Amino acid sequence: MLEITKESIEKAIEKARITKPKVKVIQFRLYSVTNKTTGANYEVTFTKIAGRKFADCTCPATKICYHIGASIGAHIVLAEQMSRQTV
Ligand SMILES: [Zn+2]
Repeated sequence: MLEITKESIEKAIEKARITKPKVKVIQFRLYSVTNKTTGANYEVTFTKIAGRKFADCTCPATKICYHIGASIGAHIVLAEQMSRQTV
């Protein structure tokens, strides 16, 4: 499990902007990310523990990768919608 820090996620988002992978929502906190060029598909999960944010990706990367960078945008939108619904 990798902790999301401001620095690491900014780099990942930047890389995702260049790579532009396809992000599909499987369910809240679970996203499918596909590289349009290679067709490689990985699953990204987000977890929140004691106010700290973590992410996991099924790709071989050992740090916050661009799959996480690509899916966090969708995750933030969904998380906001969820929090509004529960209020
Ligand atoms: Zn990845």
